[in-house]
Amino acid sequence: MRKIDRAKAFIRSHSGLLICPICRDRLELQEPARLTCSKRHSFDMARTGYVNLLRGSQGSQKYGRALFEARQEVYQAGLYGPVIELLAEKLKAWIKAQGLSQLSILDMGCGEGSHLAQTAAALQGEAEVFPVGIDIAKEAIHLAAREYAGCLWCVGDLADAPFADKQFDVILSIFSPSNYKEFARLLADPGLVVKVIPGPDYLREIRIGLYGDTEKEDYSNEDVVRLFEEQYEHVEKASLRCIQTIEPEHLPALLEMTPLTWGASPEDKERLLQEGISQVTIDVAVLIGQGSTLLV
Ligand SMILES: [Zn+2]
Repeated sequence: MRKIDRAKAFIRSHSGLLICPICRDRLELQEPARLTCSKRHSFDMARTGYVNLLRGSQGSQKYGRALFEARQEVYQAGLYGPVIELLAEKLKAWIKAQGLSQLSILDMGCGEGSHLAQTAAALQGEAEVFPVGIDIAKEAIHLAAREYAGCLWCVGDLADAPFADKQFDVILSIFSPSNYKEFARLLADPGLVVKVIPGPDYLREIRIGLYGDTEKEDYSNEDVVRLFEEQYEHVEKASLRCIQTIEPEHLPALLEMTPLTWGASPEDKERLLQEGISQVTIDVAVLIGQGSTLLV
């Protein structure tokens, strides 16, 4: 099946999921490949099947295509394999506890899509999974749709997402800022919010390699954790720390993809490439919240 046909089948099977970003009315699929609301706002689907539901044409120009291509290369090389396994383990437990036969997952700020696609793949056989990824960066969604056909990809505003209320069993927020009010609106009851944030040793080899003794202040995620804990009645925290091998061919992409290197001089980056890094630390905290404390 062509990608656009798969995306259309997905939208048809979830009638009422997508709403107009301008008037919030529900969007209907019109052949050959257009979404329209009753007020005649209309949005064409891309050939690869993603939908652009940003108001106007302004997307985020902050991050370019090279960044997302670098991330896709590194993620496909399996750098986050253990993180995906941990997420899948937690979600499988949730599926079992709730006795779910279907699971809709929304990745808010999905970037180029690898985390969502890999997580959904890891849940194969546990439940029928409906993965939806949204990001404000069109370049990222373009890459996601080109690479991963099993998900619905959407360009849209994370603070005002083009989805109807309470549509998702799980919301993922992986290395991405969180809009808890919007999460509360979108999450079904019962539902789960899963947030992944870097820990203090995350990619420490790159920080040390670039900044050495003049290393920038240690990163602390305590404020992010505290804010998360305020949002949910039940919070489970898990941490994961492991050393991953990075093949030399992926090192340029690794240095390209992380904000850690953005403050470094070209000379320092070049020196690090020459010296090489063969292993990096993946250190993350996984926060799982249930029962929003916000009134929505
Ligand atoms: Zn409309």
